[in-house]
Amino acid sequence: MAEQEHPTIFPQLNDSSWLLEIDGFDPALEPTIEAVCALVNGYGGTRAAMEEGSAGSRPATFIAGVFNTPAQPQTPELDEPIPEIVVAPNWSRLRIALEGQVLSIDQAELLEQRRFLDLRQGILLREWRLRDSAGRITNLRSLRFASLDDRHALVQLLTLTPENYSGRITLESLLDGWVTNENNILHLAPVEARSLTPNPSPAAAGEESELLSPPRPSQRERRPGGAGQPGQILTTRTLQSGYVLSFAAYADLRDSSGTAIASTTVLEERMVGQRWEWQAEQGQTYELRKLVAVVTSRDTALPSAAAPIVLERLRAAGAAALLEAHTRAWAARWATADAEIAGDVRIQRQIRFALYHLIGAAHPDERASIGARALTGERYRGHVFWDTETFVWPFYLSTHPATARALLMYRYNTLGGARNKARSLGYSGALFAWESTDTGEETTPPVINVPGIGRQPILTGIEEHHLAADIAYAIVQYRQATADDAFFLDYGAEMLLEIGRFWSSRAVLGDDGRYHIRKVIGPDEYHESVDDNAYTNVMAQWTLRRALAAAAELQNAYQERWRALAERLNLAQPELEAWRQVADGLVTGYDDDTGLLEQFAGYYNLREVDLTGHDMAEQTMDVKLGWAALGKTQVLKQADVVMLMFLQWDSYSPAARAANFRFYEPRTSHDSSLSPSFHALVAARLGDLALAERFLRQALRIDLDFTRKGWAGATGGVHIAALGGCWQALAYGFLGMRARDQGLSFEPHIPAHWGELRMPIQWRGSQLRVTARADGAEITVESGAPVALAFGDNEWRLVAAGETLRGE
Ligand code: BGC
Ligand code: BGC
Repeated sequence: MAEQEHPTIFPQLNDSSWLLEIDGFDPALEPTIEAVCALVNGYGGTRAAMEEGSAGSRPATFIAGVFNTPAQPQTPELDEPIPEIVVAPNWSRLRIALEGQVLSIDQAELLEQRRFLDLRQGILLREWRLRDSAGRITNLRSLRFASLDDRHALVQLLTLTPENYSGRITLESLLDGWVTNENNILHLAPVEARSLTPNPSPAAAGEESELLSPPRPSQRERRPGGAGQPGQILTTRTLQSGYVLSFAAYADLRDSSGTAIASTTVLEERMVGQRWEWQAEQGQTYELRKLVAVVTSRDTALPSAAAPIVLERLRAAGAAALLEAHTRAWAARWATADAEIAGDVRIQRQIRFALYHLIGAAHPDERASIGARALTGERYRGHVFWDTETFVWPFYLSTHPATARALLMYRYNTLGGARNKARSLGYSGALFAWESTDTGEETTPPVINVPGIGRQPILTGIEEHHLAADIAYAIVQYRQATADDAFFLDYGAEMLLEIGRFWSSRAVLGDDGRYHIRKVIGPDEYHESVDDNAYTNVMAQWTLRRALAAAAELQNAYQERWRALAERLNLAQPELEAWRQVADGLVTGYDDDTGLLEQFAGYYNLREVDLTGHDMAEQTMDVKLGWAALGKTQVLKQADVVMLMFLQWDSYSPAARAANFRFYEPRTSHDSSLSPSFHALVAARLGDLALAERFLRQALRIDLDFTRKGWAGATGGVHIAALGGCWQALAYGFLGMRARDQGLSFEPHIPAHWGELRMPIQWRGSQLRVTARADGAEITVESGAPVALAFGDNEWRLVAAGETLRGE
């Protein structure tokens, strides 16, 4: 590292397929840009608000799993407050003044500005020039990242160059605890804000932990002459849930020769930092480097003792080495995640944008999962939906199975909440919360205020149950793709049994001698309290059969385990027998003649609506028709039976798959961002490439079309489920990947102008690389044990590491 560290460590950017570039400044677009360009590493997410702030800026950092339920309801229509993800202190706040005048976009004239999110390296760069009322021009550049290598590390750089003047500049680098959520609710109480003392002792932190390990020798920085300043710490506590958050920071400022400029400490209530005041010379560049360590009580018992130790480690490494380790960590993730489309730079960049946010949405944490807008915005209050397992999770399964496992462990660790929910509704077993936070208790708001509609009761928390089956589905997929039997034995089987038990208690025997699931909401939320939603029933039936298979396997092969588990769950043979009867007797709405599944009982009798030209970004159908009228139409919010076709592909004939897609697709409004990607997936599997590509482009645009406003746009955070759906459309749709009992099969359908689509896929510990073109494909096993592979229904081949299977 760095014989010559100055003047700068700002990296070069040159490959546009990895860059999101935003020029200029439009305050109305800031909330979208802040979400889209958020710095994410799974532990936390920092929206890309401008460091010095502006009227349109809302800086926000979120930390996975840190929720709070305020004392009072957040909005007038609510009777009870709802838990929400907490906006944590602003770690990258700057205040800049020139000759006593604030130097910001609001107070000076912006001559130019360019921002880049470098997707490959996970860094945010900004270059801007300001002219003050006296004509003085200052050139500024900043860089920020949230380390993917050490997730407790946050780094900020700023360079400042007076272009045509010399003058007095003051710069403050702050940890700002004066933050609220968007609804103005203050979730944090101050605990302490102070200067650090030199040489923090690991003993004071009270515990041995990975966090407190000393810096690796290779990471020691050789930056001359420390400024003799140990830094500052800001500790806050969430008011009701009691999470403690500590941010420790140290910054230095140097001139172009590398000479440090002395700082003083800023100590205000809920705000600490450093302040420099100096005579800046024309043409000289001054560089600030700020290192921040974040530790919470989710990591260790005494975060305020641990954060200074982590900070010491970061200081010993220095910004340059931290940046290098961070970009190395991103490179490692890209190596097993990047989907390459050679022939279309625009799609390529959009897909990398999706992958950037997917990689950054999670890290192996068994007590946190992924909210509907990941860690990039407050929409849905950070709550975890089926979006995680059904839309986002398969990406990890094939690119980072440790994360896939941790996300399932989150569900295991919230089984208590799921059992409570089932019981409170009068059922047995486990019914996971439709909206889940840190505890697993149901947190769906009973009522919300919908713009254009007004106060609206929300039934999803009571009626939308398919999520339980969706989690079971992920558990089964996980074992199939990883062969991680230990997970199945220790956790997976228990969850499957409890979910199976729920479905059995949920179904009722009708006068027709068949079982029914009444009064539910399927994935299409535009029809509430319906009977026998095909998606729900088929997935419930499938879950019951998988639960029975799990029980049988345990009984046969793991008798000790079975005895212990059956005793703990109080599960005996007659109950299993009852599950079988429910599974066999459940109605599915399938019609042998047409191959169609009726989405729910009575759907065919509803009024048809012509959706030609409908664009949800202008107005969604619930607003257009009104809620009561909408329910009497066949208009779907999102993929429902179409999703089922994909999830249960092997259960339906080619004719039935196509018939259902052709029937439901024109009836779907795609008012939910979850819809287009799965239509792309199924259309690609059916070989309708034009339609598949149209839906893929629609899905990829959801966050990147900045003209979409309000609920349609990304202001409330990126639509992580849509992004996960895009990965699935590529892997399961365009590559036609299918996990089967024998192994992994592919049936690619690739638009000719893409050139080729290349994707890395992990399967049972082996690393594969699949390359497909319009006229052929190949699968290389790069490492690991031999893998059984096939193209379409061709014969299975066992392919060893270093070998390639070729297909037409
Ligand atoms: C969709 C749900 C989804 C939720 C959170 C809703 O609009 O209908 O399927 O889980 O958003 O993304
Ligand atoms: C979503 C539901 C959710 C509700 C309350 C609606 O927009 O479609 O899935 O439960 O908001 O958060």
